[in-house]
Amino acid sequence: MQNQTAAIHAGYDNSQGHGTMSVPITQTTAYAFRDSEHAANLFALKELGPIYTRLTNPTTDVLEQRYAALENGAGAICVASGQSAIFYAVANVAVAGDNILISDKLYGGAVTLLTHTIKRFGITAKVFKSEDASDLEAQIDDKTKAIFFESLSNPQIAIADVEKIAEIAKRNGVLTICDNTVATAALFNPINWGIDIVVHSTSKYTNGQGTAIGGVIVERDGMAEFFKENSERYPDFTQPDPSYHGLVYSDVPLPNFTLRVRLALLRDIGAAQAPFNSWLLINGIETLSLRVAQHSKNALDVAKYLESNPKVSNVCYPGLESNKDYGKAQKYFKDGQASGLISFEAASYEEAKKIIDSAKLFSVVVNIGDSKSLIVHPASTTHSQMNEEELINAGIKSTVVRLSVGLEDTVDLIDDLKQAIDA
Ligand SMILES: *Cc1c(COP(=O)(O)O)cnc(C)c1O
Repeated sequence: MQNQTAAIHAGYDNSQGHGTMSVPITQTTAYAFRDSEHAANLFALKELGPIYTRLTNPTTDVLEQRYAALENGAGAICVASGQSAIFYAVANVAVAGDNILISDKLYGGAVTLLTHTIKRFGITAKVFKSEDASDLEAQIDDKTKAIFFESLSNPQIAIADVEKIAEIAKRNGVLTICDNTVATAALFNPINWGIDIVVHSTSKYTNGQGTAIGGVIVERDGMAEFFKENSERYPDFTQPDPSYHGLVYSDVPLPNFTLRVRLALLRDIGAAQAPFNSWLLINGIETLSLRVAQHSKNALDVAKYLESNPKVSNVCYPGLESNKDYGKAQKYFKDGQASGLISFEAASYEEAKKIIDSAKLFSVVVNIGDSKSLIVHPASTTHSQMNEEELINAGIKSTVVRLSVGLEDTVDLIDDLKQAIDA
């Protein structure tokens, strides 16, 4: 099935139930068992079926199947936010004493989670340059459990060398996790380039209208074999799990990575996706590729305008031929489309503030991927928890302004930026 068909049909059969065209919202906490034997079979995984909405929900299940189809994955699990998707993906393989390798170009929330919060659980993060992966292989050791990066990073708008990262990871038997939130499943599918695990904040382009928070983890086919081949590095998948009556995940004929997220992490930590939010996200997915195409087109128009304005500099948009990642956008992203994020530099911090405060159509918002255009000052907001050195390394100067270009007419968007820059 082609992506746009999967976006509309995967995971839902309207001949079931009442034949509703809209996927029903199963707003329930728990599910009745036929009898005690049925209940026992479900808990023992002898039979698959719903037990409790913290673990599974039929509405969320449709979204999971749809995402797995869109990302060319073998399985998916939805969670309450992008942040919990990242945490679960990492915590599924790393424990106290382990380390992970993280990109130097990451979303602010991922930076605090992966450098500060997980350190409190004894997991350390080492930073590598994702744009060329030149320092990646040298940092891998016996305790390295995952390589985490963003395909198209927010807010630096840099494209990772996905092929090289995948190749180094494969050679060393280390799991790769790609945050594909900004590129979106409509433009790029990391699994097709050799990545093991894909995460998204579905709060952004998937939702599309800023109406719900969500996250998803997708795994490629064949993860059980990967864990068996690398069983020394990943013993939790090949040895009995004492918390699940001795289950050996790699023996189960289900997508292993997301199975363990569900049975261990979601069960115990519980950041479950709300069924209503799943429904909003299912509706968003139907138009994802259409919206992202228009976001990309609008962003290119806006970026060209900004590039022509002498009062701003360093317009960063990988759809521009002048951009250092233009070649990577052409190589990796569908038709070279580069999604909706642009950054540029104002002459000073004061000028940046003035532009942000003078814009009328662009709302001052830290979100991205909304149909409405958004503007933000990353250094004082999304990345304000980073220190001076971290900000410099992440390429976030105090003069940088980030735009999430929406779906309005670009005539109006460019007029608005013009008056804000000249104000
Ligand atoms: C927003 C975002 C996240 C976090 O997602 P939430 O749904 O807000 O928890 C993670 N990664 C990227 C790239 C993001 O843009």
